[in-house]
Amino acid sequence: MTNIQTKVREVGLYINGEYTKAMDDATFEVKNPATQEVIARVSEATIEDVDRACHVARNAFENGPWRTMTVAERCAKLRRMAEIILERKEEIAGLDAIDVGKPFHSAVQHEVPRAANNIKFFADFMENQGGEVYPMEEEYINYTRYEPVGVAALITPWNVPFMLTTWKLGPCLAAGNTAIIKPAEMTPLSVSLLGEIAKEAGIPDGVVNIVHGKGSVVGTALTTHPEVDLVSFTGSTATGKRIMKNGADSLKKFSFELGGKAANIIFEDANLDKAIPVSIQAAFMNSGQVCLAGSRILVQRTILDEFINRFKKAAMELKVGDPQDAETRMGPLVSEEHYKKVTSYLEIAKDENATLICGGKRPELPEYLQNGYYLEPTVYIQENPKTRLCQEEIFGPVVTIIPFDTEEEALRIANDTEYGLNGVVWTENLQRAHRISHAVRAGTIWVNCWFVRDLRAPFGGFKKSGVGREGGHHSMEFFTEAKNICIALK
Ligand code: NAD
Repeated sequence: MTNIQTKVREVGLYINGEYTKAMDDATFEVKNPATQEVIARVSEATIEDVDRACHVARNAFENGPWRTMTVAERCAKLRRMAEIILERKEEIAGLDAIDVGKPFHSAVQHEVPRAANNIKFFADFMENQGGEVYPMEEEYINYTRYEPVGVAALITPWNVPFMLTTWKLGPCLAAGNTAIIKPAEMTPLSVSLLGEIAKEAGIPDGVVNIVHGKGSVVGTALTTHPEVDLVSFTGSTATGKRIMKNGADSLKKFSFELGGKAANIIFEDANLDKAIPVSIQAAFMNSGQVCLAGSRILVQRTILDEFINRFKKAAMELKVGDPQDAETRMGPLVSEEHYKKVTSYLEIAKDENATLICGGKRPELPEYLQNGYYLEPTVYIQENPKTRLCQEEIFGPVVTIIPFDTEEEALRIANDTEYGLNGVVWTENLQRAHRISHAVRAGTIWVNCWFVRDLRAPFGGFKKSGVGREGGHHSMEFFTEAKNICIALK
């Protein structure tokens, strides 16, 4: 359990190596979603604050030592940053637990070490980068250099605030760019520590800046700002579209990681002893607030009854409760607004004649959690894959089982979505595993597993789930400009 005190924190903007108040002193409150207690007052950046951060980042890029120091020196500082994150992992996980409502033990064991590794991985990766050489007979030689782009806006969502930010910050800084981070306004606490962590690691002032506030104001100010060269965004598809429009006039470079509605396809020859616990995780991890959630569970009709019985039993056994409790597997939803959105699908499911298998109501909880935004793990069966329940990203602990008869039908249902972030396949048939993996239109396919990541591999979405890829050289290509130099040899 964390020793984080529930005092009300004051969280400033971080600009030019210092925590500072907003120019007009404005703040907004952040609440613990398990209890609705106010846990922080956060400085709300004005457009002038954002403008200042952008100029500071530009100056640090053009005139500071970051871009031009040796790669070895830059990467050593990033590795130090990764070490400090690990040294402070309990504090960081504790902040995500009270801010997002995610189980502390999961954040401390998985997300924060992964965040540290994101930074270390890209430091190591950068140090091993080469370029290309294209000799043109004996007359010319071409070679390439990969140079930093400039000032990056890194805009992140509330579901995995710290880890997702480092996934962008690692390659951004390793390549020599400077950054302005804009965390989600609902969950800014852990990310705000990145300023002091960067400073302690010896990263020069102005290289990492953090601004807080509403997406419509602070996010828009960043994505329209002429000093911002590139925008790396993770969030909803609707916001991605808005950002692309807003950035068009200044022709920024974009990377978008957006929403998802993954099909988790269970064939009759699946090993259910593995498929069921992993499908439970894919459905309810982080209360289903995961872009990669396996929220459409396609089950072959021959095993439907057995699957439903076992999946229901496992869902009902999940302990829902206090994120600080080591036994808790599922915490609350992140906010009142999001709770209303997610629970509106309970009415939609009724209107669409879905069959409720379990959940659909608040769990019984101790008195001190009565105000938390809790919902039981909720499972429906819906025969019609065109319904809203099967098409829209609910982003909560609400999943739908969709029966199918043949492989062709499963594929048709799996691809009948505007999203294409990921897919999951459960089968013991090798040929079928490959066939389905090729045919599902999504950026990542997991066969007989889920959420296994290799940071070298591409990550991103087909269709409305994203633009571009993150991971390994894909991230480095985004955060660099390739330059071709051609030398005449005669
Ligand atoms: P969101 O789009 O509402 O907000 C994401 C971020 O964008 C926040 O920091 C927000 O303040 C900012 N923002 C909002 N409007 C903006 C604007 N006009 N200009 C600039 N910035 C703006 O998303 P959310 O509700 O925080 O996160 C949930 C969504 O994120 C889900 O759709 C989920 O699937 C997606 N997500 C995707 C991935 C992925 O890797 N593909 C990972 C995590 C979450």
